[in-house]
Amino acid sequence: MIDDNFEIPLRCLFCRAPLQAAEDSSFHAGDLIKCLSCGEDSEYESVLEVAKEEAQDFAQQLLDKEMSKLAKKLFK
Ligand SMILES: [Zn+2]
Repeated sequence: MIDDNFEIPLRCLFCRAPLQAAEDSSFHAGDLIKCLSCGEDSEYESVLEVAKEEAQDFAQQLLDKEMSKLAKKLFK
């Protein structure tokens, strides 16, 4: 039901610009990711936390949509 491929971009905590990481780089807890837009460093864990909340909101919206579709089918 929920697309496995959907991706929530990691966003700068300061300006909300999507954070760019080099292909071969990986981040770890405590790392700072430098934003190319505003030059501020976002803490990786906080960025992930925000992305997780965004993903949950998105999943909830999808679920609500599916549920109302189902409800319409059932209570026609
Ligand atoms: Zn920024």
